[in-house]
Amino acid sequence: MTIPGLIADARKIVVKLGSSTLAAADGKINSNLLAEFAREASALVKQGKQLVIVSSGAQVAGLSTMGKWEHRRNIHYRQALCAVGQVCLMQAWEKAFSPQGIHIAQILLTRDDFSDDTRTLNMRNTLFTLVDEGIIPVINENDSVSVEEIKIGDNDTLAAQSAILWSADLLVLFSDIEGLYDKNPKSHKDAVLVSEVRDLAAVKASVQTAGKSNFGTGGIVTKLDAAELVTSYGIPMVLAYGGKLKELAEGTLPGTAFLCT
Ligand code: ADP
Repeated sequence: MTIPGLIADARKIVVKLGSSTLAAADGKINSNLLAEFAREASALVKQGKQLVIVSSGAQVAGLSTMGKWEHRRNIHYRQALCAVGQVCLMQAWEKAFSPQGIHIAQILLTRDDFSDDTRTLNMRNTLFTLVDEGIIPVINENDSVSVEEIKIGDNDTLAAQSAILWSADLLVLFSDIEGLYDKNPKSHKDAVLVSEVRDLAAVKASVQTAGKSNFGTGGIVTKLDAAELVTSYGIPMVLAYGGKLKELAEGTLPGTAFLCT
């Protein structure tokens, strides 16, 4: 199955944008990218698809607002930074989708929310209600309350859990990388893109996974874990570059398709 085929077949799609995708070279939220993404997302919605976004970037947005906190490494400052940044992040999303006539909604989750049946049911119902009303939910981890013990820790896992919770048909992870390579292409010029993965265990055993981007948290390992999780629920996953939904749907963007077996 090709990536355009996966997108064509899917009605309910969870799309995750990583910090490295959302941040521009100057370290601020890339509002041009968000506007372009919103245009392409709304085109998919007009085709009858439903979308849920998982968006990182609170810390990035917080830092560009509270620049003087850059060197504050203590946990309270980092959580306060995310509280400031989350507002900026949602403002950026709101601004991007508003010209498309689409409302967005913020959902902040912690690991506990996924292990409590009542909360899980509430989250599921809220997601279904929002999407049925044509609203695009934007999910992020609630970094201001998530101390280490209750952290999901990375938005690849959060996106996978959200896809399962919402019974999505497809998970798309956008990163600063074109897909899965046999080794980190940032440090190996001869790295080769793996365009399709069926046997994830074999791939996990053979690819090299060290390294991540400046703003990234999980690196490729959490993306492989996300693929393992969703495919075990029958949900395929695509890993691709930079939030380019239209090119991905048209088959002009490379990527890695993780297929269910
Ligand atoms: P994001 O912020 O989008 O989640 P990350 O920085 O966390 O992105 O993860 C993507 C990074 O993983 C890439 O930029 C790349 O440097 C690194 N990486 C390490 N090994 C690989 C590999 N085998 N294939 C692709 N990327 C890899």
